[in-house]
Amino acid sequence: ELKLRESLFIVSEFAKKYFIEQLNETEEGKNVGLSYFKERGFTKQTIDKFELGYSPTKRNAFTETAEKKGYGKNILEASGLSIYKDSENGIDRFRERVMFPIHSFSGRVLGFGGRILRSDVKAAKYLNSPETEIYHKSKILYGIFQSKQAILKQNECLLVEGYTDVISLHQSGIENVVASSGTALTPDQIRLIKRLTPNVTILYDGDSAGIKASFRGIDLILEQELNVKVLLFPEGEDPDSFAQKNSSENIQKYIEENALDFIQFKAKVLLEEAKDSPVKKAELIRDIIHSISLIPNVIQRELYIQQTAELMQVREEVLFKELGQNLDRKH
Ligand code: ATP
Ligand code: MN
Ligand code: MN
Ligand code: MN
Repeated sequence: ELKLRESLFIVSEFAKKYFIEQLNETEEGKNVGLSYFKERGFTKQTIDKFELGYSPTKRNAFTETAEKKGYGKNILEASGLSIYKDSENGIDRFRERVMFPIHSFSGRVLGFGGRILRSDVKAAKYLNSPETEIYHKSKILYGIFQSKQAILKQNECLLVEGYTDVISLHQSGIENVVASSGTALTPDQIRLIKRLTPNVTILYDGDSAGIKASFRGIDLILEQELNVKVLLFPEGEDPDSFAQKNSSENIQKYIEENALDFIQFKAKVLLEEAKDSPVKKAELIRDIIHSISLIPNVIQRELYIQQTAELMQVREEVLFKELGQNLDRKH
C-alpha cells in the first residue's frame, strides 16, 4: 500500500518535530527531558544531530495535537503513535519518555524508541514503535543514517547494543557505529552493513548477555562473508558509559588495542571456562571449527584453520577433519 506508507512517513516526520518541540520549547520538556539528556552528558549539538525529543506526561498530548492538525484516527493508529482502545478517544503510545527517532538509510523517520526517565517506575525501560508498514525492526539499524559516511570512509562498522551507545560514541568522534536496538542481530541488518563495508567489530555490553549475543552475532556475520572482530568492555560497562568516562583518544586507542579476531575472542572467553580440562578444550575447539564451517569461502576457511591450529596447539589435519564433519552435516 503505497499511499499508506507515504502517510506514515508524513505522520512520523510530524511526530518527530512535535517531540523535538516538546523537549526544547516546553517547561516540562526542558525540566524533565532536556535535563535528563544533559545529566547523561549529551550536548545540545548531539541532541540536535540525533533529533532527540520528549513525549509529555498528558495521556493524549500528541494524539490531540495531531488530530487538530487533521491527521485521522486510521493513520495515527497505523503509525503506532496513538492507541484507540474501544473508544473514539485515542491516547499516546509514548508518554513521559525521552524520544529517539529511528531513521532509514536515507534519513526518513520510520519509528521511535522511548526511554523512561525514572528507575522507580515499573514500566519497560525502552518502548519501541510496533511493527508498521514502514517500521520493520529486523531490517533497521539505529544510526545508519548518521553513520553511513564514516562507515564507508573508515571501511569498518562498529556494532553496539543500544541507542545511547551510538550517540555517545558519535559525541566522542567515533562515527562509524550502528545498533541493532531492541532485537537480536538479524541477517537483514548484516546485509545493510554489507552495502557499506565487509568489516564489522562487535562492541556489546560487558555482561554475560553481551557475551552471549556476541557469539550469536559472530556466526551470523561469518555466514554473510564479512570479517568480524569483537571488543569486550570491562564488566558493567557499555560503549556509552565507557565513552562518557574516557577521552576520545583513549576510546579510539581502547578499541584498536582490544578488538580481537573472532577466533581469539572465542578462545579467550571459552579458555577461561575450560581451564586445564582437555574435554572442555576439545569442546572449545569444536565450537571454533563450527563457526569456521559457516564461512562460505574455502580459502578463508583454510586460513582460519591455520590460525586456530597455532593458537590451540593442535595439528591442522585434526581440525580439517572436524571441519569436514561440520560441512557434511550442513549438506
Ligand atoms: P541505557 O544506557 O539508557 O540504560 P542501554 O542502551 O544501555 O540503555 P541496555 O539495557 O543495554 O540499554 O539495552 C540495549 C538496547 O536494547 C536498548 O538501547 C534498547 O534498544 C533495547 N532495550 C533494552 N531494554 C528494553 C526493553 N525493556 N524493551 C525493548 N527494548 C529494550
Ligand atoms: Mn545490556
Ligand atoms: Mn547497555
Ligand atoms: Mn547504557
